[in-house]
Order: sequence, then structure tokens, then C-alpha cells
Amino acid sequence: MLPKCRVGSLLLIGMLVFINGCEKKPDNAWPDKPGKKVLTSFPPIHCFVINVTGDAAVVKPLLTTKGPHGHGEKTPLELKLATSCDAMFINGLTIDDSIGSQIKKATTNTNFNLVVLGDRLDKNKLLEGACQHDHKNEGHADHDHGYDPHVWLSASLARSMVASIRDEMKRIDPANAAGYDERAGKYIAKLEQLEQDGRALLKDKTERKIIAFHDSLQYFGQCYGIKVEGFIQKEPGTEPSRGELDELIKMCKEKKIRVIAVEPQYPRNTSAQTILSELKAAGIDASFVEIDPLETADESELSPDLYERKMRSNLENLAKVLR
Ligand SMILES: [Zn+2]
Ligand SMILES: [Zn+2]
Repeated sequence: MLPKCRVGSLLLIGMLVFINGCEKKPDNAWPDKPGKKVLTSFPPIHCFVINVTGDAAVVKPLLTTKGPHGHGEKTPLELKLATSCDAMFINGLTIDDSIGSQIKKATTNTNFNLVVLGDRLDKNKLLEGACQHDHKNEGHADHDHGYDPHVWLSASLARSMVASIRDEMKRIDPANAAGYDERAGKYIAKLEQLEQDGRALLKDKTERKIIAFHDSLQYFGQCYGIKVEGFIQKEPGTEPSRGELDELIKMCKEKKIRVIAVEPQYPRNTSAQTILSELKAAGIDASFVEIDPLETADESELSPDLYERKMRSNLENLAKVLR
């Protein structure tokens, strides 16, 4: 048997080795693999990028469970990744620009390129953003609503984003151009099929109005023929006031809207519950439908089929509820 003090010092050495091992992690931020080092912001952007790059590049996401709406200072690991990355793809249109500019500031690579996918979309296809101000009687003259940033939820705009990713990867890595072309082509075809299947799934529905949980579903609605008449959270993460809830409930009654989209990240949201029960109390057969806007996902879920799989399940959920 070892004397007590030796057990103690062995334990101490073990702990130091362990702590040291943890601290060393940022040094190995990028795996030692060939290929361009690429950062992405939140899950759908990451998914589009890995479908284009395949194994030709090393791709890391920065916002997984945090989501794009509001994000604080970067962690040491993220800054370490920034120093040696070749490109970063973000959605832009103000939703994830802050993380993009922080990474741009932190990088030491003079060839680094921040690719703002939303800026490369046809402006005629962009929709106006939601008003997040409270002004019942005043107009909107003193402020501008900008563009709605939730472009990835339209399969058609998603295809344009994939094409921009392909073009940029070919530009920074011409040696692998043929591979980028081939993979992007296959993925764009899958997104075309997704759009067709989604439309076919909903084609016999006479009910096409819903309210959304936050202002995320305009492009989704436009793509699949659904009208989003209102939303519960004006600002993501901020609950509506009682007055705002009353307005929404009144509108649902007037326009005969009974389907309320909820996001899986907020399964038992009290505002959504209130709307549902008050519509039911008024004799309306209200129902929730789970639609994931894909703003967050666990890192373990970030497989190439993430976007298609989640969008298909969103569409199937809608098809089950709409009449
Ligand atoms: Zn306004
Ligand atoms: Zn959003």
C-alpha cells in the first residue's frame, strides 16, 4: 500500500496533467487536416457549407445552441480558431453580423474573407423586417424595418446561398473547384426536390394562415404558400405584454386563425399557451404546430442532412394540422 502522502501527490500530478490538457485545447483548435479552414455562424449556414465542401475543407460552426439572435463576446477558443481561418460564412442581414465582424477583427490571416450570404441575394427577393417598436397610433416614419433576415427558411433562397458558397469556395480553393461544383449541384437539386415536395404536401389545404412564434416564418410561408399573419414574440426571447396578447387573440378570432407555430426550443411557452387556451375558450379549435426555424441545434445534430430533415419535419407537422 502506498503511503497517504504519495497517493496525494499522485492525485495532484494527475489533476495538473488533466488541467493542463484542458488548457491546451485552444492550441489544437483546428484539426491537423489538409484543406481550407472555414468558420460558419449558425446551423443552417453550417449545413449549407458542409454540403458544398464535403471533405475538401475543415468547417467549424460558432453558434450552435446559442443561436444567431444576440451573442456576447467571443470565447478564447473561438478567437483562436479565428486567427488561422481562411473564410467565414454568415447569413448577414443583421442577424449574425456581429460574430462575423468579431472574427474578422481577430484573424491574423490577411487573405481571410468574411462572406455575407444575405448581401449576395437578389434584393428584389428580400422581404421587409418586422416592426419591433410599440407604436399603436404613430406611423413608422421615424424608423426603418430593414430586411427580414430569415432567408434560409426559403428553399429557393437557400439554393442561392448554396451557389454563393460554391462560388466562394472555388475562388479561394480553385484546385478543388470540380468537387465544389459537383457537390453544390447535387445539394441544390435536393433543395429543389424539398420545395416541390413541400408544396405538394400542402397543395390541398384550404387553411393557409398561421401565427408564428417569432418573426421567422415569412420566407418559409412565401416558399410553401402559407401566410403568416402575426407573431407572438416581437423581439426574440421577449414575451409580449398582456395588451399585445389581446391584440393577437382578437386578430386570430377575426381572421379565423387557429394554428399557432411554436418552436421546439420553447416547448411550454406561456404566451403561446395563453393564446391557445383563450381561442379554445372562444370555441375555436386552436392547435399548436411545431416549426423549427433552425436557429439553434446541438453540435451533434449538425450533419449534412440537418436542413432537409428538419424542414421536411416542419412541413409534415404543418400538413397534419392545417385543414
Ligand atoms: Zn415600425
Ligand atoms: Zn429569428
